[in-house]
Amino acid sequence: MALVVQKFGGTSVGSLDRMRNVAGRALATQALGHQVVIIVSAMSGETNRLLKLAHELAPVPSAREMDALAATGEQVSAALVALAIEAQGGQARSLLGHQVRILTDDAFTKARIKAIDDRRIRETLARGSIAVIAGFQGVDEEGNITTLGRGGSDTTAVAIAAALQADVCEIYTDVDGVYTTDPNVCPSARKIDRISYEEMLELASLGAKVLQLRSVEIAMKYEVPVHVRTSFSDAPGTLVTKEDRSLEEVTVTGVACDKNEAKVQILEVPDRPGVVARLFGALAARHVPVDMIIQNTSYTGALGATDVTFTLSKTDLARVEAELEGLAREVGGQGYRVDSEIAKVSIVGLGMRSHAGVAARMFELLAQENINIQAISTSEIKVSCLIAARYAELAVRVLHDGFGLGAT
Ligand code: ADP
Ligand code: ASP
Ligand code: MG
Repeated sequence: MALVVQKFGGTSVGSLDRMRNVAGRALATQALGHQVVIIVSAMSGETNRLLKLAHELAPVPSAREMDALAATGEQVSAALVALAIEAQGGQARSLLGHQVRILTDDAFTKARIKAIDDRRIRETLARGSIAVIAGFQGVDEEGNITTLGRGGSDTTAVAIAAALQADVCEIYTDVDGVYTTDPNVCPSARKIDRISYEEMLELASLGAKVLQLRSVEIAMKYEVPVHVRTSFSDAPGTLVTKEDRSLEEVTVTGVACDKNEAKVQILEVPDRPGVVARLFGALAARHVPVDMIIQNTSYTGALGATDVTFTLSKTDLARVEAELEGLAREVGGQGYRVDSEIAKVSIVGLGMRSHAGVAARMFELLAQENINIQAISTSEIKVSCLIAARYAELAVRVLHDGFGLGAT
C-alpha cells in the first residue's frame, strides 16, 4: 500500500464535470489499495476574479483581507470535490488550511509554511476516507488566514507529501508534463520525461509557472518524487527527481520567460562606497527582493556619477513606486526611471557546467533577430537576458529551436 498525494490545478477542477473526473481518479487510486490525499486549487479563473474585485475597491488592498478573500476559492473546490467523491459512493472529508493546521508566517499573500500537523489527515486516512485539502492557504500564529502566493497549491501539495512521507506527489495540470518551454508559447516544445530538481528549480524561478518555485525547493530538500501530469488522460508525465548522469548529456534542457518584472533605473548616483548598500538596504527593509542588478563604472571620472539599474516584481514595484523618488534623492541620485515593458528570457541546463560558449550562442541567436539585450545574469546552470517585452515570444521560440530543443 502506498500513500499518494494528488494535486489538481484550476482547470482540473474547473467545472462539476472535471470535479467528477477528479473524484473518479482518486477513487480508482484508492481501489488499488492506496491511501489518497487530494489537494485542490480554486476553479480556473476564480482567484483572478476575486483579486480583481479587491482591486476595484482599493488600488493597493490590505494584504490580510486579500488572503481572507482569495482563500475562499480553494474552500469551494475542497467541499465540492469531497461531495463529488461521496456522490460516487466513496468517503471523503474536506480540510481547510487551519483545520489541517498548516502553520505559516504572517507574510500575507506570500506566506511560507512553518509546520504541518498531519494528525487530522492521518485520522481521515485511517477511517478509509480520502482527505481533500484546500491548497494555497494556511494560518498564522494569530489565527489569521494566509495564502502562499500565486500557484501556491503546488507548495501545499509537496509540503504535505513531505510531511506524510508520501510515496509520490502527483501534480495534475492542463499540460501533460514539464516541457522544454511553455507549450502555449512555442508549438515545437517537447515533453521532458525526467528533469532534475535543480533544473526545475531554475525553470520555476525564471518564469515556468508549471510548478511554483517554493514547491520545487521543498521537493528537493525532502526528496519528494514529483510527477507532473495531466488529468485529461492516463499518459505518464514528467518525473522531477534527483540528478543523474544521463540528465547531463544535454547542454540546454529548457527555456523560460518571465514578464512579471519591471526595470528601475536610479539616475546619476554618486559613485562611492556605501551608496548601493544604502539603496538596496532600504529596499530590503521594505521586503522587496531585487533580481538583476547592473551598476556601471562612473562616466565622469573619479567620484563621478553612475546609474544603478535593477529589476523587481511588478507587484513589489506597485507597492514602493511612490517612495522611489525619495530613495533616489536619499542616496544622492537625480531621480529614477521605470520600464515595465520588459521580459527576462533564460536558458537552463545542467550540461552548461561542462560546455563553453553557451552564453555566446544565446546572444548570437538574439542578435540574429535584432533583439537588444538590456542586462545579463548567469549562474552555473542558467543564462538570463533582459529584453523588451514585445520580443518575448519571438525570443523564446528562437532560443528553443536554436538550441535544438524542438520536437524531431
Ligand atoms: P495549474 O492551474 O494546474 O496549477 P498553471 O497554469 O499554474 O496550472 O501551470 C500550467 C501552465 O504552465 C501551462 O498551461 C503552461 O502554459 C505553463 N508553462 C510554462 N512553462 C512551462 C513548461 N516549461 N512546461 C509546461 N508548462 C509550462
Ligand atoms: N488558486 C491559486 C492561484 O490561482 C493557487 C493555485 O492555483 O495554485 O494562484
Ligand atoms: Mg499552478
